[in-house]
Amino acid sequence: MNLHEFQGKELFRAAGIPVPPGEVARSADDAAAIADRLGYPVVVKAQVLIGGRGKAGGVKVVKNRDEVMREAGRILGMDIRGHVVRQVLITPATDIEKEFYAGIVLDRKFETPLLMVSPSGGVDIEEVARMAPEKILRVHLDGRGLPAYRARAAARFLDPRFAVQKQIVPILTKLAALYHDQDASLAEINPLVVSARGEVAALDAKVVIDDNALDRHAELAGMRDLGAEDPGEVEAREKGLSYVRLDGTIGCVVNGAGLAMATMDLIQYHGGKPANFLDIGGSSNPDKVTAAMNILTRDARVRAVLFNIFGGITRCDDVARGLLTALDRIGMKLPIVIRLTGTNEQEARDLLSARGMTALSDMDEAVRAVIARAAEAA
Ligand code: GDP
Ligand code: MN
Repeated sequence: MNLHEFQGKELFRAAGIPVPPGEVARSADDAAAIADRLGYPVVVKAQVLIGGRGKAGGVKVVKNRDEVMREAGRILGMDIRGHVVRQVLITPATDIEKEFYAGIVLDRKFETPLLMVSPSGGVDIEEVARMAPEKILRVHLDGRGLPAYRARAAARFLDPRFAVQKQIVPILTKLAALYHDQDASLAEINPLVVSARGEVAALDAKVVIDDNALDRHAELAGMRDLGAEDPGEVEAREKGLSYVRLDGTIGCVVNGAGLAMATMDLIQYHGGKPANFLDIGGSSNPDKVTAAMNILTRDARVRAVLFNIFGGITRCDDVARGLLTALDRIGMKLPIVIRLTGTNEQEARDLLSARGMTALSDMDEAVRAVIARAAEAA
């Protein structure tokens, strides 16, 4: 679950990481009232569950009431890469001397959290990794968190001044503790700044909580902003589907995570691009199949759908019935390529052909067919 910046900052504050004050507004009038109270200059910041708001024009420093009204009015309702801004954070502007990066992610290869810091903050860390990898220091964390000597080494890597290092050390230690205590999969400060007065503070917060851990964090689960999340992901979670949206054009409906992975690999191998990972599980439940089809039809980038079923415990005829019911319900216009094999395969083929549909049995053939259909539809 992604948190908004203002929610991440609440967690930072509670953990003792210095963060400027701030309040959220849903209208330009409210924004101006908050700014009047905080004192100028302030920053007006779009609250959407996606990064790169600055570049998109969603972060603006303003000097007076007129400017707040204008900028808040402009940013509210703005579309940042598919995310419509419904609220803005108003926070006193910091006079920035230096911007750093500090973030903790899960390093899946090493199976430990990884702290990364860079003196080149404020920009995309991926870009720093590409252009100037020597400007990133990586520290793997173990179960004991971030040891003091490694926090000090990281602080020295960021700034030569002892007075600044002394402030950075506890911030990194607290960030590591927060990452662990809140079951985060990402806790990122970009930028972590030194102000003109020599004070270090977190001016941005990006926190992602592991969905599987929300059961033990009721207060975090309550922060979920359904209106700001991808509607497909919301529906998938409600219906118990595993769904991850990707950038391609081929929608995939598959039973089983392993088969879903193999399907995506094969699509890439043959030169196509999957639009998603979608696992309907071992189920033939028409509700789940309908939900899957709904999610895919809503995604404007999907040009063709591959329905790939391996019948084991799941019976192919059950899935075929689920698919036909789903198609009756939603009247889907996208081209569909069906591949099924395994238990009750023949019964499934009979059901489908009675409706004028055919199913392939070879996965390779099905993948090539769906890539061709997607190309025709483009
Ligand atoms: P992001 O683009 O979504 O990561 O949003 P950020 O919160 O990181 O803001 C983007 C950039 O706006 C930062 O890197 C800063 O350069 C700038 N910015 C944010 N807050 C302030 C502030 O208080 N004062 C000044 N001068 N610039 C700010
Ligand atoms: Mn940022």
